[in-house]
Amino acid sequence: SANVETLEFQSEARQLLQLMIHSIYSNKDTFLRELVSNASDALDKVRLEAFRDKELAADTEDLHIDLEVDPGARTLTVRDNGIGMSRDEVVTLIGTIAKSGTAEFLRKLKDNQGGQDLIGQFGVGFYASFMVADKVTLLTRKAGETGGTRWESTGEGTYTIEPVEDAPQGTAVTLHLKPEDTEEHLYDYASRGKVVEIVRRYSDFITWPIRMAPEGGGEPETVNSRKALWARSQSEVTEDEYTEFYKHVSHDWTEPLETIRLSAEGVFEYQALLFLPKRAPFDLFTRDRKRGVQLYVKRVFIMDDCEELMPEYLRFVKGVVDAQDLSLNVSREILQRDRQIQLMRRRLVRKVLATVKSLMADKPESYTTFWSEFGRAVKEGLLDDADNRDAILDIASFDSTHDKERPTTLAAYLERMKDGQEHVYYLTGESRAALENSPHLEAFLAKGYEVLLLTDAIDEMWVGSVPEYQGKRLQSVAKGQVDLDADEDKEAAKEREEEFSGLLSWLTEQLGDAVKEVRLSSRLTTSPACVVGDEYDLTPTLEKMYRAMGQ
Ligand code: ADP
Ligand code: MG
Repeated sequence: SANVETLEFQSEARQLLQLMIHSIYSNKDTFLRELVSNASDALDKVRLEAFRDKELAADTEDLHIDLEVDPGARTLTVRDNGIGMSRDEVVTLIGTIAKSGTAEFLRKLKDNQGGQDLIGQFGVGFYASFMVADKVTLLTRKAGETGGTRWESTGEGTYTIEPVEDAPQGTAVTLHLKPEDTEEHLYDYASRGKVVEIVRRYSDFITWPIRMAPEGGGEPETVNSRKALWARSQSEVTEDEYTEFYKHVSHDWTEPLETIRLSAEGVFEYQALLFLPKRAPFDLFTRDRKRGVQLYVKRVFIMDDCEELMPEYLRFVKGVVDAQDLSLNVSREILQRDRQIQLMRRRLVRKVLATVKSLMADKPESYTTFWSEFGRAVKEGLLDDADNRDAILDIASFDSTHDKERPTTLAAYLERMKDGQEHVYYLTGESRAALENSPHLEAFLAKGYEVLLLTDAIDEMWVGSVPEYQGKRLQSVAKGQVDLDADEDKEAAKEREEEFSGLLSWLTEQLGDAVKEVRLSSRLTTSPACVVGDEYDLTPTLEKMYRAMGQ
């Protein structure tokens, strides 16, 4: 009809679709998990909207998900009566990928043969449909609106979109299944048995009913058990169930590194089910990144990305917190002021840090993975969370001159300190290679002192505000007077100073305003001279950073 428009997918979206069509995943079953997950989110949203806005003409009578197969037509439909999408929402949400950093991510994916592993951290969501379908039709109507929208695509560059007069509230996604999937009987997604099996495996915990008519027709039956995992006793829940739940809340495609459970009884009752991911999301350091903890109140979803529950430096922690004693219409403003919420957040943070600490002892490989993926974010806590500074230092690892391959903890550093060594020494800079060639190191290495080599940008920021660890001062080897000499040597140093006073004042004159002072150094063994900062000067890298920012 005249109302049908043909539009192009945004180029990033096109690239991802190509990956789906030439399916790089070995497990295609996961497309259904994504569609059910989206339907469940849409039901959460409409319930919440209707609760907040009493005027909204939304139907929340019987919120549920319907699955329907037609083996003859070879179609599978996932239908929800949730929030739905307006026409413009369909275009932006389905036709483009708004996540920042996508272009860069796709470039990396191209360079990486196979790509299986990398794409896991991206989460392709709705596009996973194109692993099993050669055409996808989406019919949707936004709750509260009258007209609907029909969207259709083969995933090859373009899609069509048209207004439709009557569509039920919510979204129906119909997959026209690829023919090859019938031939490999394994993948018969038009068979009820297969669909029910996948739902039970991947989506059992979804709290909304997922219904499907029995073979040969009849009244639809609910096929999922709908039990909130965090409300079940720990011994009752299998690893696999935790994994699938994690994938649902995190939109991650890889299993979690560690599962954390916590519950509190008494005046303020809550349960938490949190996860440490295996990999940092590609957007961990971009501006619009999200914090991954969802708030529920008495089993009812209240909000995503609840920043009141997790500090920014733990933004990669995913999961659910279900509070029993909050009102269902709790808002961000209320959360920010609520003392119980603050106490809960403190406890959650301590639990996360303690979990990482126990990984160090019990699962050193998991700890190593954790720290290399998230250490840079966690170190932000050294600046932001003074209360937990010691706990963060306890779980931190740093490159050091002690071992080229493996980073060290501060505790291990302290154990190796030489007799007479007073401080924990460190040097900050851009790379390990650059630091290893630094003349600042020479005298320390000659003495057998270990020096931490700090190369993350954030290191420049926190070292200034963390004075000590377990009573030992953290001391930069590039700043101030570093007193490495024993008393006997001091006499000799004085003599040398007199001997060289002519040279020193000549150098001072020659260098003029470029330096504050020229002095003899005990820190060098082979280099003739080096530039050092004052105790309270900016480090060279930080100086560069500020200059780059135009300050
Ligand atoms: P994600 O779920 O990670 O955001 P998806 O590709 O799965 O990514 O979905 C993209 C967006 O499309 C969703 O965030 C949502 O806004 C919208 N969407 C997808 N499916 C539905 C649905 N069934 N009902 C309403 N909105 C949907
Ligand atoms: Mg999704």
